[in-house]
Amino acid sequence: MTEEQIGVNEELDKQMLIIKSFLEHLEYTLGKDKYSATAYDRFNALAYAVRDYLVERWLDTQQAYYNSDYKRVYYMSMEFLMGRTLSNSLINLGLWEDFKDAISSLGNDFDQIVNEEQDAGLGNGGLGRLAACFLDSMATMSIPAYGYGIRYEYGIFRQHIIDGAQVEIPDNWLRYRNPWELDRQEHLHTVKFYGRVISTPDANGKLVREWVDTDDVMAMAYDTPIPGYQTQSVNTLRLWSAKSSREFDLKFFNEGNYIRAVEKKMQSETISKVLYPADNVVEGKELRFKQEYFLASATVHDVIYRFKKKHQDMRLLPDKVAIQLNDTHPTLAIPELMRVLMDVEGVEWEEAWDITKKTFAYTNHTILPEALEQWPVWFFEQILPRHLQIIYEINERFLKEIREHFPNEPERLARMSIVEEHWERKIRMAHLAIVGSHSVNGVAALHTEILKNELFRDFYEMYPERFNNKTNGITQRRWLKMSNPALSALIDEYIGGGWTTNLYDLEKLSAIASDPEFIARWRQVKRSNKEGLCRYIKQHNDLDVDPDSLFDVQVKRLHEYKRQLLNVLHIITLYNRIKDNPGAYVVPRTFIFAGKAAPAYATAKLIIRLINAVAAVVNHDPDVAGRIKVVFLANYSVSLAEKIFPASDLSEQISTAGTEASGTGNMKFALNGALTIGTLDGANIEIMEEVGRDNIFIFGMTAAEVSQLRARGYNPREYYNGNRELKRVLDMIASGFFSPWAPDLFTPLTDSLLNLGDHYMLLADYASYVACHEKVAELFKQPDEWARRAILNCAGMGKFSSDRTIDQYAREIWGIKPVNILPGTVELQRH
Ligand SMILES: *Cc1c(COP(=O)(O)O)cnc(C)c1O
Repeated sequence: MTEEQIGVNEELDKQMLIIKSFLEHLEYTLGKDKYSATAYDRFNALAYAVRDYLVERWLDTQQAYYNSDYKRVYYMSMEFLMGRTLSNSLINLGLWEDFKDAISSLGNDFDQIVNEEQDAGLGNGGLGRLAACFLDSMATMSIPAYGYGIRYEYGIFRQHIIDGAQVEIPDNWLRYRNPWELDRQEHLHTVKFYGRVISTPDANGKLVREWVDTDDVMAMAYDTPIPGYQTQSVNTLRLWSAKSSREFDLKFFNEGNYIRAVEKKMQSETISKVLYPADNVVEGKELRFKQEYFLASATVHDVIYRFKKKHQDMRLLPDKVAIQLNDTHPTLAIPELMRVLMDVEGVEWEEAWDITKKTFAYTNHTILPEALEQWPVWFFEQILPRHLQIIYEINERFLKEIREHFPNEPERLARMSIVEEHWERKIRMAHLAIVGSHSVNGVAALHTEILKNELFRDFYEMYPERFNNKTNGITQRRWLKMSNPALSALIDEYIGGGWTTNLYDLEKLSAIASDPEFIARWRQVKRSNKEGLCRYIKQHNDLDVDPDSLFDVQVKRLHEYKRQLLNVLHIITLYNRIKDNPGAYVVPRTFIFAGKAAPAYATAKLIIRLINAVAAVVNHDPDVAGRIKVVFLANYSVSLAEKIFPASDLSEQISTAGTEASGTGNMKFALNGALTIGTLDGANIEIMEEVGRDNIFIFGMTAAEVSQLRARGYNPREYYNGNRELKRVLDMIASGFFSPWAPDLFTPLTDSLLNLGDHYMLLADYASYVACHEKVAELFKQPDEWARRAILNCAGMGKFSSDRTIDQYAREIWGIKPVNILPGTVELQRH
């Protein structure tokens, strides 16, 4: 045989194995044959076949971690917005082509099978998606890492749009099995709630605390493999599910109330039932508080259990364990570790506190006051009495330290105290997280500066060494290689595939950004991706849109600070200009929106209704003649995002400066060759630095200008009275032009702008935004120049790989080097 024939045979063997595995799973795991198998059965059979490949490497990786006894990192997060797993796993395993060919050879439509998969939607937005990107990067870099979260039975709700309004449908994602997870019945921890604390002196007279008469809930582990790209490493995402404890509640049982006893058992399982659907705002519910403690306690027990397999001396914990808190949501892990160290392991306070601080690090994600968690003291008194004692003791010692550090400044004590003493006493979770950690980081340069100089200024003055920045990133494996195969192939053809593990390689595109042939190919790819999105829009919204129009896209959670309403004001402005001058040339635009509003967030839901009401007018007005269209795509999710970014021309990142901590959607757009129109907020600033000021559309006030205007006294009416176009737009909305069937429908929105202070200062930025959009339209008339700048944006995205972010966390916070215990490990190439 020739070498070529051997190659062909090996390829055939590989495909035969895949086919065999697929058919065996269809028959033996699912009990179906080719006659009875549904499309969803085929997806499951395929998923099990892929999982078999993962499991081998997974076991090897975990054994290697155990043997090496390297320091491990635990990424604790109430949210993991994973999306689909099948394609991503195949790409990371390097088996995508083989599986596609093998499964297609059986007469299956591979893409259709892939589309059968449900999203794992265990998160709200950016924070949860960041956790998912970090898992991909940590596995790819062979960092011994674990994600820890909650296995919600219901993830983020599915959004339907009915008569222009959001309707929420429960996301019962586990109803038809989850082929990726393995239940670990043996990994059970008891999580205690309620009860009381008793103190008894031991033989030496030292008081020993015991937390007794508790209501117990079991936390059971479900593990999902997280494969790295082009490496043997497969890490673990461990999600906790609440199971009732084995014991019946004896009180009811003894009273002969058997059913009540069983009911009580079932109630405890509600803890992991549902993800709270509010993004960037706390709901303050008791059940949420219990969820947070459930995650904290189960994870701390698991971490200590694993540590103790190799070590006895608890003082070694910070050498072997780093715990990263994704926002304050898992902060109860700090008093929980203190409790276990002292009450269970017998460690003295000073030592326990030292271990705890060295183990934990805290990431802040927002400065919005409504998002800063503060739990009422009475929750603790009832549900976590021992933790309240510990927090009080932490606080007493901390206040003493402040007095020593800043004598004669009593105001500092009240400002910095972990306990807020207003009419209802509350525990400030961010203060607890800062005091109990050795590292506090923001998620973009501007955000970290705001933390240091404003939100946590007092803490920065006391502990300057704790504060650091870790600008967010995204994984290029999912957000370019997988979701934009055409652009990936084009990039590979010109500069090779090194960018998949070293995103700085994209810089090589700069050299060919003006090459006519490359520009033509680039434009072809964008055009064909836009055609794909047109088909999706036709199918889901029954609307024809022009693939040659400018796709002007704002997709993200609906929130006033993100200012979707400002975008709408611009659309209505363009509409009025067309109405005034129907014959004039305008650049055709398709405005695309997607995003969920928290179910209780009335203003955000009303903005969705306004977008759809404006769409209904604009899309059907004969004067517009199709030159502008407005589309709201329902149910924004990871899998919808994967369709939208590759087809976008313009990325709307228009939050009020100083409000968006980082943003990651902005990075996904630019990576896929969209230009950004944005404020100098969050990571937009760093994107501008990387791609060059000439290649991004910046408008509006800076964060400093926002502060100054607020301090001076902001009067939105000045802008309303001073700008005829703006006044006309607001008057139209307020008068019911877009809702003749209910003329007052949208007045709450115009009221909030004109009469309630316009907190996010839309009116102050309106003129600058509209003028900036005129520049956008001018550039879009020169498609080659537009493409050149889009290429330069893509070329500048190296910094925004989550591999770079994780490398910085690993070196600067966790003290973990990317390990080389396994072949294929990525080495980050740095500037
Ligand atoms: C990236 C992403 C986000 C975050 O978007 P921002 O524009 O940064 O708020 C939210 N949801 C999904 C599904 C995402 O993929």
